[in-house]
Amino acid sequence: MIELHNISKSYTNKNNIETKVLSEINLKINKGDFISIMGTSGVGKSTLLNIIGLLDSPNSGYICIDGEKMDISRLSTDKYSKIRNRYIGFIFQDFKLIRDMNVLQNVEVPLAYAGYNKKLRKERVKEVLQQVGLVEKEDAYPDQLSGGQKQRVAIARAIANKPKILIGDEPTGNLDAETTEEILRLINSLNKLGVTIVLVTHDLNVAKNANRILELHSGRLAEYSID
Ligand code: ADP
Ligand code: ADP
Repeated sequence: MIELHNISKSYTNKNNIETKVLSEINLKINKGDFISIMGTSGVGKSTLLNIIGLLDSPNSGYICIDGEKMDISRLSTDKYSKIRNRYIGFIFQDFKLIRDMNVLQNVEVPLAYAGYNKKLRKERVKEVLQQVGLVEKEDAYPDQLSGGQKQRVAIARAIANKPKILIGDEPTGNLDAETTEEILRLINSLNKLGVTIVLVTHDLNVAKNANRILELHSGRLAEYSID
């Protein structure tokens, strides 16, 4: 469904010194997969997620979605922001909710962008808030919610357009152990419903929820073995 072919990415600093972050990465993500990507801080996990999420372009290599090769030189165009909005849902460590919008309005953002009318938006918001167990909070503002509730809202927003893939960049990084478990249960239940998931984490206990654990090290992805 999503395929990375020989993806390489490096950054060049102001002294013209090049740091290679990703080195010819190949990865096939199938529908219904739950993949965790582990690795130490600074190893390139976010860079890789941003490339999978069509937010950043590699220096070489390419990405295919449903067999269609993405034109990475045009990622910043309107066409690609539309593709992103429908195909990929993101969740983050710091939730990235919009503070002056209530829960309902936050979840509506990607739906409005996808062109749903008001009636369909309301229906879909109700549906996803039910899925994440937060219907009674639709009028609340982010500041009135706990960390776990904020992440539930962010998950509702991320899945509102029924994306092909839900991508999480350390989504439990700011949560205590109990809330982490609660969010992982939710992510697991979405995966059982067929949502494809890719999570980046440095926490093996979080990574273990996946069917496949990969480790990024020296620019390369390898299967992680639990010994
Ligand atoms: P991780 O998510 O594993 O912590 P990142 O993908 O954020 O790692 O970063 C990988 C490396 O790339 C780091 O050394 C970081 O400093 C560098 N890096 C990330 N983004 C940029 C950028 N926009 N410009 C220059 N260097 C960057
Ligand atoms: P920008 O104006 O910076 O491009 P966006 O309209 O892309 O902002 O996104 C606004 C907020 O909504 C961001 O925090 C972004 O993460 C979130 N967002 C947008 N589209 C989606 C989506 N499909 N799934 C989850 N979150 C999304």
